[in-house]
Amino acid sequence: MPHPSPPGASTDERAGRHEERLRAAEEAVATSEARFRRAFDESPIGMSMSSADGRLLWVNTAFCELLGRSWAEVVGRRLDDFTDRDDLDMAARIRAQLIAGETTRSECELRHVRPDGSTVLVRLSMSVLSDPAHAEPPLVLGQVLDITEAREIEARLAYLASHDVLTGLPNRLLLLDRLAQAMHRRDRSGGEVAVLFLDLDDFKIVNDALGHAAGDEFLVEAGQRLRECVRPTDTVARLGGDEFVMVCEVASMDHVAPLCERVADVLALPYEVDGKSLTMSASIGVVVGDALHEPAELLRDADVAMYRSKADGRGRATLFTARLRAEAVERLEQEADLRVALREGQLEVHYQPVVSCTDGRVHGVEALVRWRHPERGLLLPAQFLPAAERSGLIAEVGTHVLARACIQLAAWQRTGSDLRVSINMSPRQLLDGAVVDIVLEACRAAGARPQGLIVELTENALIETLGNAGDRLRRLRETGVGVALDDFGTGYSSLQYLRDLPVDLVKIDRTFVRGLGRDDDGALAEAIVGLGGALDLTTVAEGVETAEQLRRVRAMGCDLVQGYLLGRPVPSDELDLTSRW
Ligand code: C2E
Ligand code: CA
Ligand code: CA
Repeated sequence: MPHPSPPGASTDERAGRHEERLRAAEEAVATSEARFRRAFDESPIGMSMSSADGRLLWVNTAFCELLGRSWAEVVGRRLDDFTDRDDLDMAARIRAQLIAGETTRSECELRHVRPDGSTVLVRLSMSVLSDPAHAEPPLVLGQVLDITEAREIEARLAYLASHDVLTGLPNRLLLLDRLAQAMHRRDRSGGEVAVLFLDLDDFKIVNDALGHAAGDEFLVEAGQRLRECVRPTDTVARLGGDEFVMVCEVASMDHVAPLCERVADVLALPYEVDGKSLTMSASIGVVVGDALHEPAELLRDADVAMYRSKADGRGRATLFTARLRAEAVERLEQEADLRVALREGQLEVHYQPVVSCTDGRVHGVEALVRWRHPERGLLLPAQFLPAAERSGLIAEVGTHVLARACIQLAAWQRTGSDLRVSINMSPRQLLDGAVVDIVLEACRAAGARPQGLIVELTENALIETLGNAGDRLRRLRETGVGVALDDFGTGYSSLQYLRDLPVDLVKIDRTFVRGLGRDDDGALAEAIVGLGGALDLTTVAEGVETAEQLRRVRAMGCDLVQGYLLGRPVPSDELDLTSRW
């Protein structure tokens, strides 16, 4: 809009001012154009100006760099010349919409091809530059942003969110997704979906004994074996720790058992870890998908079945049933109960006499834990220790029993008695690097001399703790604590262990005593007693219930006996410590 002339100005003056204003306006336009050009040229974003038919009229340095070409190579060519063939249609469509005025700005992602053949993924945003009132064909301003790296990061994040980093196998999230897909396919085209929940038996021991690096190596190897023993379309996932889940689509139920066998077989092959050859079994729980249950529920049921396999002695597969679910619920309740029991002092320790075969005197007592349950009455270890082992509460139970037993031992020692007190130790306690200190501290706190204490361990416990056990037991023995091998003959029964391990006593399992005087000629019991004698170990016969059994074990030359005949486990104040004969 023209400025009104000041009143009284001459025509010449007016013309001169007009010129001036025109020049100023032109200069302003030129400056703004220069600014635009500079902004365009120096923008870190790739910029292009192209004609309606897609010919590049002007591009900036960033644009050239992105395409890996010089300015001269680019200008005058069509953007399509540098676009991946698969993306051409999309680019054309978007340009057409712009030119037709359907939109003033549009965006798409496409790939540009560099002279070396590599592609760069870009986000291209285009807008029409010209004034719609102008008749000239419109110009298209393009801005291209390299998003290759951003995409790679996105993809990496998505991968990380859905995979286990150690093994590269799908994680729980992706597993559930794959399981849902498999169930979908089953609903449409039939067949069965088997979900196998696997937990390596004793993996924790490998980890503790050989270190985490070796443990990791082990897991990677196990994952690979699982991956290789099923079809590519099946899923093998790692949930964490030593838990794996497989989702396998099979033609019918008949294929489920052979599948489990195959899986168990490949896992059972020896592993070379840290220069050592190890074997490992897995406990497997299986559920076959049905229309009623969601993926997460199927997974949980397979987990429940896996627990059953563990409880039944590991290294086996169990098919899920509704009864198992009820048991699982009960187990969870029991664990919660046991925590309360520990907190509120419901755990008691009873003592069973261990009697000398030669003179009938009470040589010592075995401390056995009991749970005085407020509703269910007095519970035996078999009713709650399995749950305690599983939940890890066994360590607390063990520490509690140790403390009580040491207090009792100290009381006897103060009266001048040399009665020995045995406690049972679970493998988990022995795995704790601080076990020696824990035992000594319990003695110190109670004022008991460690020489009065015996720690009982099963063969299985010793073998499970691998290399660590020997050292710890040796250190314990140096302080005067005795070590007994419990339930001998029921575990791996390797005679070599008897010789190599730092053990003072061997307790012959009840099963070898039970049949004495009936169907058992006692040859096995006798052999163990003989062996114990040869290795200079004190032998103890467990579970002696009858006079005949007692006669037989004494005749064999057994040193000590324990059993209902000589006394049941009772609270300390009910103990009969007088000689038995
Ligand atoms: P165990 O170490 O073999 O203990 C001996 C078991 O045999 C005890 O069962 C005892 O009551 C039972 N027994 C003793 N004499 C006879 C007999 O003449 N006939 C029969 N049939 N049984 C007899 P209990 O107290 O039920 O304990 C079972 C197992 O629980 C123990 O077996 C031991 O392995 C474990 N246990 C008990 N207390 C503890 C504890 O404080 N910590 C740990 N980790 N385990 C414990
Ligand atoms: Ca025992
Ligand atoms: Ca025993």
